[in-house]
Amino acid sequence: MRVMKFGGASLRDGAAIERSLRVVERAARSQRVLLVVSAQEGVTAQLARAAEEAVRGELGAWDALRVRHRSTLTQLDLAGDLLDRHLRELRAILEALQTSARLDRRMRDYVLSFGERMSARVVAAVLRKFGQAAAPLDAYDLGLTTASSQGEGALLRAPTRELRARLEAVPGIPVVTGFLALDPAGNLTTLGPNGSDLTAVWFGEAVAAEEVVLWKAVEGFMTADPDVVPEARRIPVLGRHEAVEFAVNGAEVLHAGALEPAERGGIVVRVADVAAPHAPGSRIEAVTPHVGPLGIAHRESVALYKETLSLGRDQGAQLAELLRELSEAGIEPHRASFSGRELVVLVSDDERTAAFAARRAPRATLERGHASFAVVGRRIGLDPTLPARVAALAARVGVALIPAPGDTSSASQAYLVPATALTPVVRAVHAGLFGATPTKESGELLPHPHRSAPSERSA
Ligand code: ASP
Ligand code: MG
Repeated sequence: MRVMKFGGASLRDGAAIERSLRVVERAARSQRVLLVVSAQEGVTAQLARAAEEAVRGELGAWDALRVRHRSTLTQLDLAGDLLDRHLRELRAILEALQTSARLDRRMRDYVLSFGERMSARVVAAVLRKFGQAAAPLDAYDLGLTTASSQGEGALLRAPTRELRARLEAVPGIPVVTGFLALDPAGNLTTLGPNGSDLTAVWFGEAVAAEEVVLWKAVEGFMTADPDVVPEARRIPVLGRHEAVEFAVNGAEVLHAGALEPAERGGIVVRVADVAAPHAPGSRIEAVTPHVGPLGIAHRESVALYKETLSLGRDQGAQLAELLRELSEAGIEPHRASFSGRELVVLVSDDERTAAFAARRAPRATLERGHASFAVVGRRIGLDPTLPARVAALAARVGVALIPAPGDTSSASQAYLVPATALTPVVRAVHAGLFGATPTKESGELLPHPHRSAPSERSA
């Protein structure tokens, strides 16, 4: 079975949905296909706003969601009442929220679930209109179970072999909701941004797929974000370890957790571009074929949260406690370390973090206005010459690098710069590391003359 996942951008509107499903139709001629779908682009964020507004007593966002989905149905020439049941259920929940004092995670996830649930219905209906048998399925009915403190995809019970049998029994193409699961108490949970990637690979594991294709609105993994570095190039093949490093260092191509089931199941994950369905995209295999720099990931706006340690108490326990409190406040720690008597955590630079730090002052301080970037590549972390090379490239544009907190992974080296200097620095580093690299006919990167091959020891 071939698993194909379509992200929000590839389902943005009626035209995008039809274009994406032509790709499915072609694939389904030669192979059985399992589809996993995201919400239409922007809908998850719209639902999150709707939930927050409902708690404040407003229902305007529901109307916007209804209009958006109705117009998708019109564009696709589908029955206007296809989503009425879901829209009514959503409205009833939002109305119930109006009498709640606050929005808890359980209710928020319930509201968020409508994006994927509705898009699965739309996608299945379009396939049927194309003359292709298809059935929408909610992933949480198929046994995907996560912890209740969801948001980032801690899977408790993965889909099993029975699931495989169930999917195989579906006449036509199963169209499964991404991003959604249940906790052991039966509440809906969500899997965090790009969570559908994770769903797709979990299902890929369950059905023993050889390949899972994630269709997105990007060419694939790139040597840098093309919005920052216009010369950025597609990376044709990379290893799982490096793909994870891109994700954890801020590249939004893929959900980092998606590569765990890929590893377990020996599944090749391919990121493909819906706008260029015949282009090869990026293949994520077990190992990156070349040693050395592959690309640069970045975060535009980060801050260093620092907190004084209490002496005489276990430092690790204090860090663990802080990380838990950050997570409860909805703040994702990107990297963390001890430095002397201090805990240092790299977080995103926003009002939520600022408020968290203010509540814990004077023990806590927040150093704002940074950006971070990481050079990613096989055995990069073991290359002792890289920091000096990167520092020299940054110095060419007059910027001094600040060391990023936390350990160096074997597949990346991370740095901080003033946020205003991110673009020139990333461009200079990209030009220095990748600028002169020609590409072969196949699109495969040739080894760069400066790429060093550090020892194999701890890779
Ligand atoms: N709809 C969710 C999001 O916007 C999950 C996904 O698209 O994979 O991140
Ligand atoms: Mg998305």
